[in-house]
Amino acid sequence: MQVLAGCVLMGGAPATAHGQALPAAAPAIRTPAEAADYLAYTSPDTALAWLQELAREAGPIVSVRPLITLPGEYGGRPVVVPAARISSAAPDGSAAGSADGARIRVLLFGSQHGDERAGYEVALRMARDLSIGELRPLLDRLEVVIVPVVNPIGMRAGTRFDASGEDPNRDHLMLASPVNRALWELHAEFEPHLVLDMHEMGPTPYEAQIGLPTHPNVDPRLTELARYWLLPYVVRALAEADVRFHEYISEVPDPAYPTAIEAPADTFFTWAPINASNARNAFSLAGSLGLLLETASGQEIDDLKRRTDRLHLVVRSLLEVTAGLSDEVLARVWNTPDRRDAPTPFLALQAENEADPEQPFLRWLRRNEMGNLVPMRIDRWRPGVRVSASLPLPAAWVILPEGAALAAHLEHHGIRMRRLIEPVELEVSEYRTPVSVVPGRRTLSAGSWVVPAEQPRQRLLFTLVEPGSDDGWIRSPPPGLAAAGWAESDLPLVRIEGRLPALPLVSADAIGLPGVAPNATPGREPGR
Ligand SMILES: [Zn+2]
Repeated sequence: MQVLAGCVLMGGAPATAHGQALPAAAPAIRTPAEAADYLAYTSPDTALAWLQELAREAGPIVSVRPLITLPGEYGGRPVVVPAARISSAAPDGSAAGSADGARIRVLLFGSQHGDERAGYEVALRMARDLSIGELRPLLDRLEVVIVPVVNPIGMRAGTRFDASGEDPNRDHLMLASPVNRALWELHAEFEPHLVLDMHEMGPTPYEAQIGLPTHPNVDPRLTELARYWLLPYVVRALAEADVRFHEYISEVPDPAYPTAIEAPADTFFTWAPINASNARNAFSLAGSLGLLLETASGQEIDDLKRRTDRLHLVVRSLLEVTAGLSDEVLARVWNTPDRRDAPTPFLALQAENEADPEQPFLRWLRRNEMGNLVPMRIDRWRPGVRVSASLPLPAAWVILPEGAALAAHLEHHGIRMRRLIEPVELEVSEYRTPVSVVPGRRTLSAGSWVVPAEQPRQRLLFTLVEPGSDDGWIRSPPPGLAAAGWAESDLPLVRIEGRLPALPLVSADAIGLPGVAPNATPGREPGR
């Protein structure tokens, strides 16, 4: 850890102190909370105007656009969810994808949970610090897109839920929330290497926690990158600022936050949950390193500055180490020439947490009745993951025309697919049960979607499309199998194993196919 941290500093990270002191020169633009000495929250309605003011001050380094406009609750005022792109590689200020492949792209968003306001405050500060403040040197190695407040409607109402009652951070597979669909469109366009998701977690003794991806289908190199390359630097920065840190721990099922003492006997403790409906796991399956960033809080206004400072330090130190190690970070995961051929023969359909004989218990701090910290030992500790069902990756999946709802869902997640322009008879695998396949021969009708496994979001695709997947669309309660009216014995889905043969394919929006509007752009493409 010491050696690694030394590398970071020699590797060119800006020589900024990572304490919590304010910079000597007063910032040119203050956030509304800073201007109020943190005695008032920033209104969720001011994000767009504030970012536009910043863009006027900063010039083309900042470009702001509305990501989505949400109707107000009960006919109230609509609210814009803005996104700000901060990049010194954007001479025209356009919000289009990366202008420089050598930079690491970071997507930072706050306040998916409307009652966790520190993420919003940190996001505004970061936009300022990166564009006209002391963190600007980081833009030599990073470009950052910031969505300060994902859930402004929930923030207005003081709740974690959005206007339709969804918990936004349990919705990254189903995408019922319009903001989440917009966030995934942004993700497909920007293709970030890092996705940082800021939260607050109530009064835990650990003042900062970071959750790593835990879904068994996440590329293990992403988790290794986080744990062994990025976290040691963050841990040191937090220790120097006297912030008590732990890797994220949760209580399953469905914790508010770990209280341990009162936990019912059928619950257990683990690293962050393994399901894929949260941003951390879903974006990691899509090929980014998704991290959950948490700050402890009493969720009271008099605590706002402290919890915002802590979360700011977490984000800042993550950006510093990522910038300092950018070449190594890119080489370890994203720019490896053999990535496309890396053997991933089997991926998980079903998995659960399990105990690990080598780590039989968790040491944890709690506060006693006097408010003092006391160590405790938690025996219901299940850090391992046991995969109970898996299948190999096929060459492709074919979704028959009756499966249009599934195909539409995959497109929301940025999955690439094309369509058969004429019927084809092929050797395929058919689902005998959701977790087992048998060889068969099928005529695949014109209009069927062919979804190749060979694509950047391969692991998310497998996890969403496989009928036996714990996190699959088909098994999920709405919309899924029942809502689509499909029989489990006759799914509109088959697999092509081995190599993908040459097929008469057209782009997914070609005209003359079922479900495509006549004014869509024709796009016949050669088979491959
Ligand atoms: Zn949260």
